[in-house]
Amino acid sequence: MIVVMAQGATRFEIHEVCAKLVNLDFTCHVIEGVNQSVIGVIGNITDDLCEQAELWPKVEKALRVGKPYKLVSRECQPEGSVVKVGSVLIGKDKVVIAGPCAVETESQMLETAEAVKKAGANMLRGGAYKPRTSPYAFQGLKTKGLQILNEAGKAYDLPVVTEIVDPRDVEVVARYSDMLQIGARNMQNFSLLQEVGHTRKPILLKRGLSSTVQEWLMAAEYIMAEGNSQVVLCERGIRTFEPWTRNTLDISAIALAKETSHLPVLADPSHASGKRSLIKPLAKAALAAGADGLIIEVHPNPDEALSDGPQSLNFEEFASLMNHLNLGDKK
Ligand code: PEP
Ligand code: MN
Repeated sequence: MIVVMAQGATRFEIHEVCAKLVNLDFTCHVIEGVNQSVIGVIGNITDDLCEQAELWPKVEKALRVGKPYKLVSRECQPEGSVVKVGSVLIGKDKVVIAGPCAVETESQMLETAEAVKKAGANMLRGGAYKPRTSPYAFQGLKTKGLQILNEAGKAYDLPVVTEIVDPRDVEVVARYSDMLQIGARNMQNFSLLQEVGHTRKPILLKRGLSSTVQEWLMAAEYIMAEGNSQVVLCERGIRTFEPWTRNTLDISAIALAKETSHLPVLADPSHASGKRSLIKPLAKAALAAGADGLIIEVHPNPDEALSDGPQSLNFEEFASLMNHLNLGDKK
């Protein structure tokens, strides 16, 4: 059941409603919206309970949600949620996150941060723990990489996002970053989802390589069910029969996720295509389908990148893309 609180309901009034429900053995999750808060209620819901709850002070309405995903469903927050990362409002403004696939050196990160900031990016990315297909490929600089990313973000006033691959690393990754990324390969790593759900850090949840939209939303539900409502979805391409692109950007999934969920949705044309020449058209298509922004791989010298060079833009290409997208004054 979703309990929609009246506009202006205070935290105390929300708490009073939760207390009544907890007394009746239900579990409550409060999602604070910009204008209105809602309470996701989990348990054995009846029509009688909904009718009863609608009579409680400051309750606007109570709805039963028949879908398996509840806290992420659009009914929970029809106006769409906004996730704040530093001063960046994902879901309100169109945002661009840019940076290399992997943090390699201090100068690489500082140069990239300077270039992407100048071109208009809102956040900096860079992997310190890289989930590579081969155990012999570069695995990331780990804590040292986190420190370099953190310094580069601070130097250019860009909040940073980085991938976390192991529940044991939550504390250290959270210390050095503003947003935690759950990569495609870990989308259904339920203990990792629950662990990041215990933090209050914004989470960037990438869609699994072969996951349905419902499985993706259920993964977000895992995080929210632990009490962290700061979740942003990211469509990064799925496996199809087409070998000419690394993955296939699922444009309908962007529109579908926006329709069925209140969470902001970003698109990753870099991992979706695997080819730098396709980034501009895919970025435009994703935005046209309703994406709230983009995450794009940028490297000072893509030919020498330790990972994902073929899909990385150099500084000039990124600046030209940003110029072309002209996102400055768009929602
Ligand atoms: C990445 O962002 O560098 C990455 C590994 O992405 P994905 O999990 O989507 O493959
Ligand atoms: Mn990558």
